[in-house]
Amino acid sequence: MPMRWPDFLNLRRLEGRIVALFLALLLVVQLLNLALISQGIGRNARASVAEELAAGERIFTQLVEQDAEQRGLIADLLQSDYGLRQLVGAGIQGDELRSTLQDVFRNLSERGEASFIGYANDAFQLVTATDPIAGQVAPMLRGVSRQQQGRTQSQIVLLGDKAYQVVVARMRAAGLGGWVFMGFEMRQDQLRELRRIANIEGVLLSRPEHGAWTVLASVLDTANTELVLRELPTIAQPGAGGGDRVDQAAAQTFQMHIDGEQFQARLQPLAHGGDDKRLMAVLLLRSVDDALAPYRQLQWMLLGLSLAGVAVFAIGAVLTARRISEPVKALAGEARRLGAGDYARPVTRPSRDEIGDLAEAFEAMRQGIRAREEEVHRLAFWDPLTDLPNREQFSQALARRIADNDQRFALLMLNLDRFKHVNDVLGRGFGDRLLRAVADRLRHLLKDEVSLIARLGGDEFLLLIEDAGATRAEAVCKRIQRDFERALSIDDQTVDLSAGMGVSLYPQHGRDSAMLLARAELAMHAAKRGQSGCEVYAPSMDAASQESLSLLSELRHAIDAGELRLFLQPKVDLHSQRIAGAEALVRWQHPTRGMVPPMEFIPFAEQTGFIRQITAWMLHAAAQAWIGLEREGLAVPISVNLSTRDLMDQDLAIKVADLAAGVPPSALCLEITESAIMDDPQRALQTLEQLHALGFKLSIDDFGTGYSSLAYLKQLSVDELKIDRSFVMNMERDIDDAKIVRSTIELAHNLGLSVVAEGLETPKAWTLLQTLGCDQGQGYLLARPMPGDQFPDWLKNWQPPDLGDARASTILANL
Ligand code: C2E
Ligand code: CA
Ligand code: CA
Repeated sequence: MPMRWPDFLNLRRLEGRIVALFLALLLVVQLLNLALISQGIGRNARASVAEELAAGERIFTQLVEQDAEQRGLIADLLQSDYGLRQLVGAGIQGDELRSTLQDVFRNLSERGEASFIGYANDAFQLVTATDPIAGQVAPMLRGVSRQQQGRTQSQIVLLGDKAYQVVVARMRAAGLGGWVFMGFEMRQDQLRELRRIANIEGVLLSRPEHGAWTVLASVLDTANTELVLRELPTIAQPGAGGGDRVDQAAAQTFQMHIDGEQFQARLQPLAHGGDDKRLMAVLLLRSVDDALAPYRQLQWMLLGLSLAGVAVFAIGAVLTARRISEPVKALAGEARRLGAGDYARPVTRPSRDEIGDLAEAFEAMRQGIRAREEEVHRLAFWDPLTDLPNREQFSQALARRIADNDQRFALLMLNLDRFKHVNDVLGRGFGDRLLRAVADRLRHLLKDEVSLIARLGGDEFLLLIEDAGATRAEAVCKRIQRDFERALSIDDQTVDLSAGMGVSLYPQHGRDSAMLLARAELAMHAAKRGQSGCEVYAPSMDAASQESLSLLSELRHAIDAGELRLFLQPKVDLHSQRIAGAEALVRWQHPTRGMVPPMEFIPFAEQTGFIRQITAWMLHAAAQAWIGLEREGLAVPISVNLSTRDLMDQDLAIKVADLAAGVPPSALCLEITESAIMDDPQRALQTLEQLHALGFKLSIDDFGTGYSSLAYLKQLSVDELKIDRSFVMNMERDIDDAKIVRSTIELAHNLGLSVVAEGLETPKAWTLLQTLGCDQGQGYLLARPMPGDQFPDWLKNWQPPDLGDARASTILANL
């Protein structure tokens, strides 16, 4: 597992972000503070250094002035020296005076530090001096003495590359005039004093008008003095233009670096003059670093305090961030739980703040989702109409059941007959009530037998019967059938119930729910087709349904491709032995399968509704066949078979009339099976009425196989009744069938119908039927169904069979 940073160090987490933001803000503020403070300190330090330098300069001048005053005192002393006055007073002149003065002066200058001492007369001509350079000074004394009468004066005088402080005193001996003056070379004295007092370095400099600075005196060591000199000329050009009052010229300040140390410098011109118009100045230097030193400690302290502040703040930020993020994390956990579908536990409120409110909203959401989920679950797994489990729940339960144990069980699929019809005729509301009633009945009836009942939608129900094989499942079917015999009454309407049921068995018929369901359904369809009520799945059903699928598409194609054929089978009048009509029977000339008999596709076409197209085709073909016969003078009525589907078509009468246009209605007879009428007698009655009104003959087909009641027969406006061939073919052997044939003939005649016997295969049957009063016969004895175009020739060549002595007397005797 990779190392995980704590959340407060992880910038992707809320905690980390809060901490980072707090700290970043604090750091910015602190750094800004520090920067401002150190800038302030720097500015302050420089300002105070500048002030110190200014003060230093004042000290320096004061020191110079002090020295001047002291030296002036010495000059005064000298002028009042008795010996000197005497000498001067004695009027000694010339070389004698000069040598005497020299002695005095030398003593003095040896005592003091004077560089030279001289005496000038009133005309400022040097009389004598201790050093020849005093000769240059004498003419300048005029300006000095003029400035302030009667007092010792001083002035800085530049001679060569040296500067001297010159003090002058007036000789005040009677009768005497002249001046005593002393020159002191300016050296380090004042500078040293300045350094001691103010910690300021000083350099005395001079420069001819057009030349480089030279050092007069310096407290710096030689190397540093050199450095200063090297930097100076480029920066300082003071005293430009000269002038007497050079000391009042503005000082210049600037920065300087000496030996890696930063200095603030102030250059103040002091004097100006001499032959080469020399400028003298004092350069004062104060180390900025020194000035900053006391503040440095303060800065370190500040930095320390800041860091401590940041640390305290960081801890505070982490704690605050935790306080904010912990409830959010807790809530996120709750949300994840909800996301995973756990709606059972309520969402706990982690705090009293807004996040707590959010948690409350989550809780409301949880309750909402939970309620809706229950509703969705109900809708997804229950049939709202009958409150039975739906297909989904049944499939799941079935899958679970199969996974749980290997015990056998049976699956029963039940589909109500004619439900769609009930829905159409009596309305959906009625249909719904019917379904509920059926559901109640099933539930009630089978509560001990069946472990699960579901409605699959529509009129389909599914039942799971535990520990059941075919026998037990069939017994359940029987129970249901018996129960359904009791008609259901809803809203004063009585409805006959019947259903097709299909059974599949676990494990023989499939080991998964999908397979079992599919096979139960197949069996159910087989039961409906065969009208057997209940079927247990058999492998043959698979094939049937497989085939039928491809059959439908082929059948559609058959009409367009002209693969249908009209076959005709004659009907004979049993008494006159003349051909009285023909039945039209469809055949399918399949390109690969050959001639397909109708039993292989008619039931299927009926199921799918495709039969209507076939009927239309047959009606048209029959009409054409009749026209052909009529042309040859052989016209007999042709019977066409109608199916249940046709009868349910409200527009059937119009369609038939349309298709039979060009032939009189009497040319066509329409055969309708008993069961087709019984599927929906009301509607069938209506349609038959319309057809009758149009003049078409109507015939009841396959009579005896269904359950049509006499009551209905009476109401129907039919003309003919066809006894099913199964009775006719059996009547020679089976006395019961013979009885049925006889009573059917009687019944039909009583109702005013003519009777046709199907399946007339033997001369004996002919005789028997004739004797029983049957009107017509149809069967292989006359002819098998033949292609329509062969019929006219057959008709022309028709010879009644030789009945010989076919006697039916034995049978008749037993009837
Ligand atoms: P169906 O209407 O009862 O037709 C008579 C059936 O009995 C015909 O079978 C015919 O060949 C057969 N048959 C006639 N005489 C004898 C006999 O002496 N002995 C025996 N064993 N059978 C005889 P087919 O042609 O196979 O038709 C079977 C059924 O198919 C018909 O029974 C009818 O229900 C249906 N069908 C045939 N053509 C059409 C049609 O165009 N429309 C509709 N809706 N159904 C048709
Ligand atoms: Ca028929
Ligand atoms: Ca028939």
